[in-house]
Amino acid sequence: MEMLFRKVEYLIEGDAAKQKMLKNSPWTTEKIRKKITKHFVFFLLAFIIANFFLAYIIGIDELKKIISEPVSEHMVGFLSIILFSFIFYGVYISFREQICTVICPYGRLQSVLLDRNSMIVAYDHKRGEPRGKFKKNQPAEINTGDCIDCFQCVKVCPTGIDIRNGTQMECVGCTACIDACDRIMEAVNKPKGLVRYASENGITEGKKLRYTGRMKLYTVLLILLSGILTLLLISRKDIDGTIIRTKGMVYQERGTDSLSNLFNIKVINKTIKNIPVTLRLEGDAKNAGKIELVGATDIHLKQEDQASGSFFIVLPRTFVNNRKMKLVIGLYDGDKRITTLKTNFAGPFGKY
Ligand code: SF4
Ligand code: SF4
Repeated sequence: MEMLFRKVEYLIEGDAAKQKMLKNSPWTTEKIRKKITKHFVFFLLAFIIANFFLAYIIGIDELKKIISEPVSEHMVGFLSIILFSFIFYGVYISFREQICTVICPYGRLQSVLLDRNSMIVAYDHKRGEPRGKFKKNQPAEINTGDCIDCFQCVKVCPTGIDIRNGTQMECVGCTACIDACDRIMEAVNKPKGLVRYASENGITEGKKLRYTGRMKLYTVLLILLSGILTLLLISRKDIDGTIIRTKGMVYQERGTDSLSNLFNIKVINKTIKNIPVTLRLEGDAKNAGKIELVGATDIHLKQEDQASGSFFIVLPRTFVNNRKMKLVIGLYDGDKRITTLKTNFAGPFGKY
């Protein structure tokens, strides 16, 4: 709203006062031109947002198909783009800041997050009160504050609040009231900043912004969360999976000299390419045993998909030295090892 739509609106129709004048003016060629241009650009932006939104849900490849292939083959997708475009257009042209006050939970959280030292869009009541209408050559004994009660800050406020009543849940921090009041202060020859970014303590006690305990806590939390996010992103594997020994089964005898276990594997492909995955034993078991996939030679892993399968691990009896032997299995794309997974091989009691 603030970064795109309001900027477009200001560019085409001017600031809040000019927009109001245009709204109340009769339908001239100029007004029609401005309105058509605004609605066209708004719909275009809504259409682009709808495309991104859909790409987020169905994936960029599916979206490309909807765009490039005949409409008849992707009727549902095509209608979804049109529907979402109109929804976004409706939100930005009419519903606007009501989203902030009715749907977004931030306003409610604000009262918990803020304290008297938080920087907010604030009215300097010490300087502004008692408010009084501006009169030229006003006698000095009539001592009013700097606020001339012109209501410009209220008129430009997209959520319709009066910032002079203090911080309110509806404030979206757009700073339109700061600009409006600064213009008025300039016009009446008074210093700007009657409405400005300031803390409650800064206004009432003239205290400078301090790095409080709450701010320190927020900083630590922010660093911690950013650290966790970075760690998750760095350690994210393109291919991941699990190998579990088939439930209810222990080991099988293979002739007189070997033992086998049956395993189930589930692999997830987070990349956008198909990968035929082969399995190999790693470590000491590499040369001693073998893997036998059930009914296939590899696990065909489609892009952004998951696959599962079953396989036997066959090991010589002499190699199995534990009732629960740890094994590492490598997942390979050709000769390139993609990742490794760990599992346990169940052997009989006692040593062979
Ligand atoms: S910053 Fe000012 S204009 Fe913007 S929502 Fe808050 S009070 Fe209204
Ligand atoms: S714009 Fe400034 S001077 Fe006018 S009412 Fe608001 S705070 Fe007072």
